[in-house]
Amino acid sequence: MNHFSHRPADPGEDAEPRTRPLEPGSRPDLEAALEAVNRDLAATLPDAGPMRLMLTPSHDEDVPDQYHAALPDGRWHDGVTDPVAADVADAAQETVQAVLWQVWPVCPEHRSGVHADAGADERAVWWCRVGESHELCEVGELAQTLPGRQRRALRRKERGREG
Ligand SMILES: [Zn+2]
Repeated sequence: MNHFSHRPADPGEDAEPRTRPLEPGSRPDLEAALEAVNRDLAATLPDAGPMRLMLTPSHDEDVPDQYHAALPDGRWHDGVTDPVAADVADAAQETVQAVLWQVWPVCPEHRSGVHADAGADERAVWWCRVGESHELCEVGELAQTLPGRQRRALRRKERGREG
């Protein structure tokens, strides 16, 4: 079977860290960053979202807390420490790639996977490394990069949800 199911490692009896959902309101910056990622998932990979943030607290002061972006079913892959917005996008991308085996997001022009990066002003952007490399868009604005027909279909869907 080719299905790759990645679950959080069981820390065992003697290990303290336990992964749990991030407490609402504890990191508004990361929640906003994940909201942007979820907008992009809704636009281009709706089955993978909405994701939520998980935290593996560290009980060792030399080891930082780990943050994860989890799929709706709770699965996640890898973690980031001391995250900024771009790291949240990166964690979400890791999860999509390692758990769902999907290249996401994709640059429509180069048909190649793009990467989360911190742009000017610390905003998170999707960066395409093909050729001269270019910024695809700000994280959360992926819908704007879709071809017109897909974008219109998405807008119709959103209107349907609101109405
Ligand atoms: Zn590109």
